[in-house]
Amino acid sequence: MGSQRHGGPGTGRPDGEAPRLLIGGRLVAGERTYPSVDPATGRVLGQAPDATPAQAEAAVAAARRAFDTTEWPADAALRVRCLEQLHEVLTEHKEELRELTIADTGAPRVVTHGAGLDEPLGIVRYYADLLRGYSFTEELGEIEARGRRHRRWVEKEAAGVVAAITAYNYPNQLALAKLAPALAAGCTVVLKGAPDTPLVTLALAELIAEHTDIPAGVVNVLTSAGPAVGEVMTTHPDVDVVTFTGSTATGRKIMTAASGTVKRVFLELGGKSAMVVLDDADFDLVAMAAAFTICSHAGQGCAITSRLLVPRAHHDAIVERVAAQLAGVRYGDPTDPGTYMGPLISERQREKVDGMVRRAVDAGAKLVAGGEKVDPGFFYTPTLLSGVDPDSEIAQEEVFGPVLAVIPYDDDDDAVRIANNSAYGLSGAVHSASEERAIAVARRIRTGTLSINGGNYFAPDVPFGGFKQSGIGREMGVAGLEEFLERKAFATVVS
Ligand code: NAD
Repeated sequence: MGSQRHGGPGTGRPDGEAPRLLIGGRLVAGERTYPSVDPATGRVLGQAPDATPAQAEAAVAAARRAFDTTEWPADAALRVRCLEQLHEVLTEHKEELRELTIADTGAPRVVTHGAGLDEPLGIVRYYADLLRGYSFTEELGEIEARGRRHRRWVEKEAAGVVAAITAYNYPNQLALAKLAPALAAGCTVVLKGAPDTPLVTLALAELIAEHTDIPAGVVNVLTSAGPAVGEVMTTHPDVDVVTFTGSTATGRKIMTAASGTVKRVFLELGGKSAMVVLDDADFDLVAMAAAFTICSHAGQGCAITSRLLVPRAHHDAIVERVAAQLAGVRYGDPTDPGTYMGPLISERQREKVDGMVRRAVDAGAKLVAGGEKVDPGFFYTPTLLSGVDPDSEIAQEEVFGPVLAVIPYDDDDDAVRIANNSAYGLSGAVHSASEERAIAVARRIRTGTLSINGGNYFAPDVPFGGFKQSGIGREMGVAGLEEFLERKAFATVVS
């Protein structure tokens, strides 16, 4: 057994006590707990509460009460102040959160300086600022109808109680990209963290409870080892909106579960994004971009470009360059500032990744590099598969590991066809010496975000989400706020 994590960022919790759930403004211990494992060592990092369905019911009831009986949904000034406070307290405890994030997720330090931690804090700031200038009323002007004059307008109001369910890979990003806009809109929230990375989500709960004026019941936080709590949240009649980030398979279940009470459902799901290398691109630069992208958080990112589409005539030359770059990727201890790639989250995930690589080879792909497990911890070496059939499993299914599939194409039309030959439509990238040509190709790819020659779209003001089976709706940006608003139309008779 490894060391137990004591206390939490900025909490008065005594050493050795497990972190607590947040229900109705109170931090409450779990009736039972389960271990959270450090994926870099395989050792137990700490215990997390395994919430019961009854605790999920209590959290929904608290959120409902806070929505129906407090000023929270109507008091935008209070919400701005609370979001600013939340940003302040997160910033104050950022370095403690960083260490916890590294330990709980296995994300190397470098990842926490981006989407792992620092960028998500900017989302809270962004929604505080957006809310300050946001107009909840839209004038539609006057019209003549049925012999009278009518004034019409639309008021946007909070959609109600939100059930927020997150994936394991970026717990700060996923929690805050749901919490901040939902709170800005005036909703109340029950947030459930992922079973594999509960400690980060629980640390957010403690900071909210102990260091902000967010009223009791407005934010409730649960963690659980199994799906029962999520099932309560997605079927409960008092929940108005479900916002979910996770796999497409779970997303389908959630849509079905939520349909019984016709909830609004927002889904951020899986991806199998393509990086398209046009024949005039700088192959050295592309090789570096492809290699470092696939190894980012060990490939455990929904928007990672895991298919590399290359001109057939240049396939071998590009593969050689990517292999050379992958050989230089430093993996290992995620606490070491020089580490670029950490472990996969669990042995279960590593087995899944390895099985997909083995089957890809059986299906005819060439294993150019990687394909090895490294112990202790759940490490998997940067893996390159070349000559991949675009219809094969490795080209169609999400791996969520550091596995890059290189697929040759014949011309630009063929590249677009292969890029779109996917059930997913989350992200993508195009590289070319001609920005105009790259943009023209990108416009034909059916995904929610596209990077041109390395352009970075990922920021709090940019709507993020997917086409096709990568999801429904957009997170972040103004669109992210409006996911949590209802529109109510009014009309009066002027004369
Ligand atoms: P997952 O689908 O296994 O679990 C996600 C969450 O759903 C967890 O909190 C889990 O406990 C919960 N859950 C499981 N069954 C449920 C049920 N029946 N009802 C309600 N909740 C239930 O996903 P994961 O393995 O944690 O994360 C990896 C997946 O997440 C990948 O597919 C990845 O692409 C996706 N993801 C998408 C985005 C995005 O923005 N599009 C971002 C990050 C991760």
